[in-house]
Amino acid sequence: MAALIKNGRIVTAVDDYVADVLVDDGRITTIGARLEVGGDVEVHDASGLLVLPGGVDVHTHMDMATPTAHTIDTFGSGTRAAAFGGTTTLVDFCTPQRGQSPLKALEDWHRLRESACVDVGAHMILLDADPGTLDEMKTLVRHEGVSSFKLFMAYPGALMLDDGALFKAMRVAGANGAMTCVHAENGHVIQALVDEAVAQALAAVTEARDRGIAVHAETCPHYLFLSADEYERPGFEAAKFVMTPPLREHSHQPHLWRGLKTDDLQVVSTDHCPFCFNEQPHGLLYSKQQGVDSFSRIPNGAPGVETRLPLMHDGAVVRHGMSLNRFVEITATAPAKLFGLFPKKGTIAVGTDADLVVFDPAERWTIRAAEHHSRVDYSLYEGRELTGRVKKVFVRGQCVVDGTRWLGREGMGQYLRRGASGRP
Ligand SMILES: [Zn+2]
Repeated sequence: MAALIKNGRIVTAVDDYVADVLVDDGRITTIGARLEVGGDVEVHDASGLLVLPGGVDVHTHMDMATPTAHTIDTFGSGTRAAAFGGTTTLVDFCTPQRGQSPLKALEDWHRLRESACVDVGAHMILLDADPGTLDEMKTLVRHEGVSSFKLFMAYPGALMLDDGALFKAMRVAGANGAMTCVHAENGHVIQALVDEAVAQALAAVTEARDRGIAVHAETCPHYLFLSADEYERPGFEAAKFVMTPPLREHSHQPHLWRGLKTDDLQVVSTDHCPFCFNEQPHGLLYSKQQGVDSFSRIPNGAPGVETRLPLMHDGAVVRHGMSLNRFVEITATAPAKLFGLFPKKGTIAVGTDADLVVFDPAERWTIRAAEHHSRVDYSLYEGRELTGRVKKVFVRGQCVVDGTRWLGREGMGQYLRRGASGRP
């Protein structure tokens, strides 16, 4: 069905103007002033509101099994939460089990992904760089649309690759137009040093970019809005904030905000890796309570997919004076470009997918986990007041969110075969 979004202020990474957007058959077909349409077209008035490209979150872990825990969101629940937060594209991490080949892991991931309500692509985590794995990397890029690989320099004995394996995997990725994402905490460096690393790690990225090297850096809202003070919370409350990398000192935040403004940080993603705080009703496997007697057994990760866009609008635009264009760039355009999804995703133009967010930049509201759509039972930002709220969301032209109403359905999300990654 065709739809017309009238009188909205259209903001992309480079544009800012008032116009009507006509969408048909999943794509934007016309952008213009005072478009006339027939009675068979659904009309949405966006007067006084922003029309933004759907958010692109390139770091999520839906329905992920680890040897000891399982994230609580299915693709169905997690992508519905994403849509309510104005995010219409995810790139999720496919995590092979130990000894499982990447291609087999992708097959399993696809079965889980079928319940998605928004479009989803995959990154592949590599647990080794054996000849078979390196060979499958090429197949993944050329035939499966998986053009980015995650390598870990942390978690010795579990996920960590040695320098030789890192080098081999990076070489194959580079030769095939794929990107390697490195979890750059050194597994052998003691925690005291890691704690100093945010500003320094960022300094290394800045220096490399100044020398013309294709290095990109992401951050997550929790590093911008929260600090290690959360670990001082009474009782077991601190478990809600257990994640890797951990939250840092307050003093790191100005560096991150500055990096976002100066393009030393290019992407804001969520690392949505949700475990419930309470054991019931879903069980211990999905809960932080596993670590109630031993801090080291707390499942590692936190939710965030539903709050990224409004948090970043409030923090970046309202409180830090960032332009709306830059806000769109870091939450949609840059991630789409870096991960081979642009211009299908990440902007508003004739011919692109009609993934659109109608956003009220003035509405004030308060984050409450009880009103979220994820299956997780808490928010890192409970009680935080924000300015700016998602009002309507369109996925390939279909209105899936209208205020508090859900109009989408599980299974309507499509798999995104991505092109070459790492080209901003
Ligand atoms: Zn992650």
